[in-house]
Amino acid sequence: MSDCIECGRELFGRCDKKFCSDGCRNSYNNRIRRNGTEEPRRINRVLEKNRRILERLIIAGKRRSTLLKLSGEGFNFGYSTSFEIRKDGKRVIHCYNYSYIISSKDIVYVAFKNI
Ligand SMILES: [Zn+2]
Repeated sequence: MSDCIECGRELFGRCDKKFCSDGCRNSYNNRIRRNGTEEPRRINRVLEKNRRILERLIIAGKRRSTLLKLSGEGFNFGYSTSFEIRKDGKRVIHCYNYSYIISSKDIVYVAFKNI
């Protein structure tokens, strides 16, 4: 015997049943779907903020900054859209149409992504 995984009510009948009713099945599935969209939205917001910060630099004609400055502006280095390792071993990180390299001295070099 088991309980409804939505409301906890005791289940009777088939032992593979998970819900006591269609209502419970629907609200359970709806909640999973709802929660499943929050994380992608959060990551999209982080990436969009990163992209705007890089764009501001480029528009201002600045091609370099520092880890500290960018972090202070809210740049989140934990997220990128992709990255590649150049032949010289340097890691080029992409954020949509922009790219950056972090030097060993924590200087960040920003450029348009080479497509
Ligand atoms: Zn139930």
